[in-house]
Amino acid sequence: MDQTKIDVLRAQPLSAFTHLIDGKQVPASDGGTMDVISPIDGQVITTMAAGTAADMEAAIASARAAYEDGRWAGQPPAARKKVLLKWADLIEANALELAVLGVRDNGTEIGMAIKAEPGSAAATIRYYAEALDKIYGEIAPTPGDILGLVHKEPVGVVGAIIPWNFPMMIGAWKLGPALAMGNSVVLKPAETASLSLMRMAELALEAGLPPGVLNAVTGEGRVVGETLGLSMDVDVLVFTGSGGTGRRLMEYSARSNMKRVYLELGGKSPNIVFADAPNLDEAAKVAASGIFRNSGQVCVAGSRLLVEAAIHDEFVAKVARAAEAMRVGDPLKVDTHVGAVNSEEQLKANLGFVEIAKTEGGEVVTGGDRILQDTGGYYMAPTIVTGVTRDATLAQKEVFGPVLGVTPFETEGEAIALANSTVYGLAGAAWTSNLGRAHRMVRGVRTGVMHVNTYGGADGTVPLGGVGQSGNGADKSLHAIEKYVNLKTAWIKL
Ligand code: NAD
Repeated sequence: MDQTKIDVLRAQPLSAFTHLIDGKQVPASDGGTMDVISPIDGQVITTMAAGTAADMEAAIASARAAYEDGRWAGQPPAARKKVLLKWADLIEANALELAVLGVRDNGTEIGMAIKAEPGSAAATIRYYAEALDKIYGEIAPTPGDILGLVHKEPVGVVGAIIPWNFPMMIGAWKLGPALAMGNSVVLKPAETASLSLMRMAELALEAGLPPGVLNAVTGEGRVVGETLGLSMDVDVLVFTGSGGTGRRLMEYSARSNMKRVYLELGGKSPNIVFADAPNLDEAAKVAASGIFRNSGQVCVAGSRLLVEAAIHDEFVAKVARAAEAMRVGDPLKVDTHVGAVNSEEQLKANLGFVEIAKTEGGEVVTGGDRILQDTGGYYMAPTIVTGVTRDATLAQKEVFGPVLGVTPFETEGEAIALANSTVYGLAGAAWTSNLGRAHRMVRGVRTGVMHVNTYGGADGTVPLGGVGQSGNGADKSLHAIEKYVNLKTAWIKL
């Protein structure tokens, strides 16, 4: 990455962002705007439309009309594929611009953002574009006088609500399969990270997606998100975000048209290190990056370190060294390891968790503080707290910040019991050289993803979804397509 190019892009003034409805950029119906504050320095960098319920209703009506007249769903698969492939190419061609815009908005370090945001989004769109003409219906094994067919039909209008940590990557996880299967989509980006996703949506139109097939409305979740959730004209809601909002979406569904709701929620993922791990130095470095990259604002972050008691002190010292070696700071510098916390509110919440941990007997080994305050931005030192007991707040509640809680264990059984002692079940890892133990951990720990001798990095070929209060349904892989189709049976007497 070229630092000079990044510096040029970051200096560019931004014009006001509007909604994308029916193929047009439109302001809020009442003219309302919201300031976009950069977490890099706390400065206002632009404004975006503060959507109203009427704006969201217009977007849903546009998506419904686009679906019903078949301008997208009715196109031959090869034609839809061509548009989506072009969209992926455009995202890639504009990768640096999109990444810098996203970082100015949400604070992720550019080294991670360039890969995880436009890089991953383009790969995801391409994956589903390539898949869409390889998905067949079925012929059922019926008696000879019957032909039983199972069609896979688009669901209609999909509402997609996206969080702030990786807007393009997570947005593409929903948009790729939804659009590939012929649906129309109404997108609702997060208040504190809308810009890059809005640009990405505009690129879809440039690639040839017909107007109205993808609409995007910015604004408050409690206003436009709620209208989307309560709509009688939305067939499926897909969401990544917090458990609290996930619960509301289920209520909205129950109060309206009982639309299907798929939730990708938070986690308290255990990273479990046994004394027989193949390489403790490597495990320590990965444990640090597995929680501290993107300031811990990663749904699968390994936020609980469970360490075999025999190596506890030695291993914690290694992780602390790795944490202290991470450069925290301006996320638009190519050599920064950890960028800014997304918002002042999130930073305060993170610091609050550290204070609670101290009152519950935790010991802060490194970090614990806000840093670089003179920049005006929101930065927090990578923080490690030892002595976190099974029921402590830090072991039970998701921080979504750069805070690692450490708990020792004696036996494999105890490690599994600790790992399974939260309401969550998103991700986890086990570090061991014992093959049998590795498989027992994969089977025993209740999560959607278990890593062995690594942490994170699972690509688009495998599903990501939680169990328990980490959610339902899966993003990524061909399995994600199931969320965006209805099965229809044709039972034909011959
Ligand atoms: P959030 O729930 O506050 O917001 C997510 C989205 O929901 C935003 O677009 C917001 O505007 C919208 N929203 C808020 N209130 C709403 C309402 N009443 N009705 C409809 N929409 C509403 O979550 P967040 O703080 O943006 O994201 C962080 C959370 O997301 C963390 O808990 C994290 O673990 C989780 N997350 C999970 C995954 C995963 O794949 N499981 C991935 C990333 C983040």
